[in-house]
Amino acid sequence: MTQENCIFCKIVNREFKTDFIVETQDYVSFNDITPRAPIHALVIPKKHFASLNEIEDVELMGKLLKGAKETAAKLGVADNYRLVINTGEKAGQAVFHIHIHVLGGRSMQWPPG
Ligand code: 5GP
Ligand code: ZN
Repeated sequence: MTQENCIFCKIVNREFKTDFIVETQDYVSFNDITPRAPIHALVIPKKHFASLNEIEDVELMGKLLKGAKETAAKLGVADNYRLVINTGEKAGQAVFHIHIHVLGGRSMQWPPG
């Protein structure tokens, strides 16, 4: 369940003081430590999966999307936000515990770099 040395497992286990924006039995969301937009939160499952490719549980995938939507609403950007899931190093993934980025509060460029 918990992966040793995984920073996001530590956040789930409250080894660091982190305020959760949304918490359910399946996932939590919290502010990104290095925000790339005025609103930048992360939604993660409580259970460790290295990336989206390791999750087969479609119900959990749906719950994470719901969590992202709720997080955007709680942060006041329900009408304009972007969700990002980086999968693999070349795609920009640095933390190998799946997370959905919730970005908002400014205009976004397309396509992303
Ligand atoms: P990735 O590049 O893997 O898609 O995104 C990882 C994100 O996690 C980055 O935006 C980074 O700023 C964030 N992050 C890394 N370590 C921590 C941490 O200890 N606390 C929080 N709140 N965010 C973190
Ligand atoms: Zn983990």
